[in-house]
Amino acid sequence: MEEQLQKIYEECLQELQKIGMNLQNNPQIGTIEIGLSSRSQKRYGVCKQTDPDRNTRYIERRGRKKIIHYAKYQNHKIEISTWVMQLDTSIIKNTIFHELIHCIPNCNNHGKEFKKYAEYIHQQLGYTINTTGNKKEDFARSNVAYQEEKNNKYQIQCQTCGQVFFRKRICKNFVQKYRCAKCNGKFQVMKI
Ligand SMILES: [Zn+2]
Ligand SMILES: [Zn+2]
Repeated sequence: MEEQLQKIYEECLQELQKIGMNLQNNPQIGTIEIGLSSRSQKRYGVCKQTDPDRNTRYIERRGRKKIIHYAKYQNHKIEISTWVMQLDTSIIKNTIFHELIHCIPNCNNHGKEFKKYAEYIHQQLGYTINTTGNKKEDFARSNVAYQEEKNNKYQIQCQTCGQVFFRKRICKNFVQKYRCAKCNGKFQVMKI
């Protein structure tokens, strides 16, 4: 799954390069790393940023509260949720593009600048970059059965193709006993 992600990520970077967006070895952007995370069943991905550029500090006032923001960071760590990997490649790419836009200065929220780049990528490459995902729709588009996690205690995911399903109960040696029907990969079980 990790290899598949790196491959798709490289494709995303190349597609962006073709439309004049160079995100690699770009001093304006800094370093970007990408990896998988199995922590969240809700979010598609996240971009964790460190090393802010102190000169780009600005303060937002929310009532009495003051919130410090930075327009630019030097380090970006993108995490893509493992469950996303079972979906259509175009949806994985939408997620990667979304997180990559967050790496661009002034884009670490879903404001005007973020939307400008999302729209540009949409026009040039045809990808639909949402700020909120629609899980049900994305599963349907990928021809993957959508199962609500409700009442289920276990989440089972294939470590190779990323397929996810849920069960109320499973036998003790499930991982040893069963393999993925799609790709024969090994399962990982998580209590939810
Ligand atoms: Zn976002
Ligand atoms: Zn599999």
